[in-house]
Parts: sequence; structure tokens; C-alpha cells
Amino acid sequence: MKILCEIKTPFKEKFGIPRQSLLIPEAIGVMSFPKNDFYAEAFRGIENFSHLWLIFSFHQAVDEGAKALVRPPRFYGKEKWGVFASRSPHRPNHLGLSVVKFKSIEFLDKEIVLTVEGVDLVSGTPILDIKPYITYTDAYPEAVSGTFQEKPEFKKVNWNVNSEINQVTRLLIEKVIGLDPRPGFDQLQEFGVSVAGYNVRFTFRENQLYIKEISKE
Ligand code: SAH
Repeated sequence: MKILCEIKTPFKEKFGIPRQSLLIPEAIGVMSFPKNDFYAEAFRGIENFSHLWLIFSFHQAVDEGAKALVRPPRFYGKEKWGVFASRSPHRPNHLGLSVVKFKSIEFLDKEIVLTVEGVDLVSGTPILDIKPYITYTDAYPEAVSGTFQEKPEFKKVNWNVNSEINQVTRLLIEKVIGLDPRPGFDQLQEFGVSVAGYNVRFTFRENQLYIKEISKE
């Protein structure tokens, strides 16, 4: 299979990445393609779509292989579900599927740059295909995904640090932490997450998150 490009995202590591796309629209993904005969035409009309599907390889899960049973994060590791009843990266072909929002397409001198919003991908993820999201066939508001698949809520985030970070990055960091990326119910531990070139240390107490330290990577 051909890799179209490696997407650039604010996420250097898997830990802390939103568990689905579009939970955090401020998470921007940038894809660059060479301006050759193929790509110069392949995007014609794409700006007519507000949303796109990205098909990609969960490349950082390949070495870990496939798992028939996985522990979906919504159960905090307490329940096991079949991989085909989950969106886990540990699938036989490690193929991922994310719907993102189209932001822009730029035709530069030597490259074409496609920018999208709401990625749930580690930076460097190989993109295998891009398709338009088509409402009549892709959206089923009545679809049942079980009460267990509700959209996660953002928890309150307290900034206990003074740092000069621009508003956009601040909001992104706040949302990443607010989605509570902790793998389990460990109350005491301090965690570190890498977002947009910053290492953010945080703790959890009484259903709120506390940012303890932010340093540039
Ligand atoms: N929307 C996609 C992805 C859901 S899983 C789908 O349903 O197929 C999302 C999680 O995959 C993220 O939280 C992150 O931890 C992990 N992830 C993101 N990019 C990855 C990659 N390239 N390799 C392995 N895991 C990745």
C-alpha cells in the first residue's frame, strides 16, 4: 500500500491524544504532498466538503500486534471487548479511520498543503487515503452505539503555573488535559503529556485536573 504522506499533529506521543477525532477541533493536522501531476489534480473539489475521512496506519501499534480482546478506555481497563467491537489500534491490519474537518488546501510552489481540524493521531502517522464525508451515507443520527459510547465530557482544568503560552495553544492544552487522559483511577500519580511542543505535568483530585508544570520540549 502507498503512504500518501505523514501527517503533522501537535501530538509527539500516543499518551494524551484524544480518543476520537473532532473531540478537540483545535488539534490541527497538516499534510504535505509533492506538487506532481497526480497531486496537482487529485484534490480538485475537496473544498466543497466540510469534513473528510482519513484512513491511516496505526503505525505505532504494529509491533504490538493484534489483540482479539481489548480494554476500551471508557471502562478504565475493567472490561474486555472484542477488537471488532472497538476502535482499538490493535487490529489485524492496524487500519484507522478518523473523520476530521477540512480547514484549507494551499497550492504552494513545490507542495500542496492540506490542513484539517480535530485529529486524534500521533505526529508522523502514515495517511493511506483521504475521502470526502458524505452526509446522506455517512451520518446516521439514530445509530445505536450503546450508552457506553457517550461523548466524553471535559473536566475542569486548573492552571497552577504561570507561563507565556499563546491563547490557541493554551486552549489546546486545556482541552487535552480536560479529557482526562489518565489510563486508570490512580489518584495520586503525576502524569506528563506532550502537546504542541510542551511537556505538561498534571495531577487529578476530586474530579478536577491540575496543571503543575509546563516546559518547552
Ligand atoms: N478515530 C480512529 C482512532 C481511534 S483510536 C479510529 O476510530 O480508527 C485513537 C487513539 O489511537 C489515540 O488516542 C492514540 O492513543 C492512538 N493513536 C493515534 N495515532 C496512532 C498511531 N499512529 N499508531 C498507534 N496508535 C495511535
